Amino acid sequence: MDNLLEYNLEELTEYIKKFGHKPYRAKQLLRWIYHFNEDHFELMTDVAKSFQDTLKNNAKIVTPEINFDHLSSDGTRKWLLDVGGKNGIETVFIPEEDRGTLCISSQVGCALECTFCSTGRQGFNRNLTSGEIIGQLWLANKLLRNQENYNHLDLQKRVISNVVMMGMGEPLTNYDNVVHSLEMMLDDHVYGLSRRKVTLSTSGLVSAMDKLKKDCPVALAVSLHAPNDNLRDELVPINKKYPLKELISGCLRYIEFAPRDFITFEYVMLKNVNDSLDQAKELIKLVKNVPCKFNLIPFNSFPNSGYECSDKNMINRFKEVLMDAGIITTIRKTRGEDIDAACGQLAGKVQDKKRRSRKITFVHQ
Ligand code: SAH
Ligand code: SF4
Repeated sequence: MDNLLEYNLEELTEYIKKFGHKPYRAKQLLRWIYHFNEDHFELMTDVAKSFQDTLKNNAKIVTPEINFDHLSSDGTRKWLLDVGGKNGIETVFIPEEDRGTLCISSQVGCALECTFCSTGRQGFNRNLTSGEIIGQLWLANKLLRNQENYNHLDLQKRVISNVVMMGMGEPLTNYDNVVHSLEMMLDDHVYGLSRRKVTLSTSGLVSAMDKLKKDCPVALAVSLHAPNDNLRDELVPINKKYPLKELISGCLRYIEFAPRDFITFEYVMLKNVNDSLDQAKELIKLVKNVPCKFNLIPFNSFPNSGYECSDKNMINRFKEVLMDAGIITTIRKTRGEDIDAACGQLAGKVQDKKRRSRKITFVHQ
């Protein structure tokens, strides 16, 4: 059976042509799948019976399976999804007054070994397919539509208004599948989200950033975490391949194409590691030519992490130094803490992880 979530409009059109059906039916089918969240072909009422039969015999809508579904007291909802072989990924929905953000995963685990990240500590198993990435949106949409305490929200508006690729994995090391799914998120026949409302977070794979800016320039968040190469080499080992000078130039090149006129820099606050006021000043020098905003992320602890979160007071002072230099800086609210849904706490499980290797081959170098 073919999983229709793997196909964009063009591919779906080709697919149904193979069975002798008219190309325009592809758009009709996409509307049922994504706008009405329908996965039963026989319930697609205005679809010709012969077309329904072809679909029933050959195709399916397959999403990852739900292992756990947790609702936090603050409304954050987290799903632990099974993607086969006992491997788990996580998808998190964060409702706010004016928007609903879905945080999705791009890989089972991650090969990049950032020292403060629990996903990085777990190692890497495999890339998610485009259907598994889009499937997280499809599934979340379906479940959220049925969630009672969201009834007060105006359902004419989409419950999921924003998507961030900040779950498990480094999206730019799964380039083709990620771009395919991003394009689908933007396509009006699928989710029709604007490029401003889809954010990809990367630890800084400069060559892939250069490619993304041409292929599908969505909003970009870059995980900076350190003001100099010495410290960043340690915290974010990919820095050895793409040191800060190159990363900063890459950000400047991306801005030319970005849907927003700034880059978001993420900066995890690690006590006595990267949180001194001198380091804040060093940071200001580093980014002085880049139109940017900073998002300070309180470190979310996990067992044996070896790090502590900076004190609240320290985080505020760090923020003030950046703000005084004219850089808009926010401190990320920690959401869903009671269900371990905060950044870097994602407890997706990686089984049969591939042997870790320092030599990682990236696509599109
Ligand atoms: N691989 C991508 C996207 C996924 S991680 C990236 O690194 O950007 C999303 C964000 O959470 C990144 O900024 C990452 O550095 C941060 N993060 C990872 N572990 C964390 C932790 N334990 N506490 C707080 N933030 C963390
Ligand atoms: Fe991978 Fe991002 Fe975690 Fe680094 S922070 S190990 S790139 S998921």
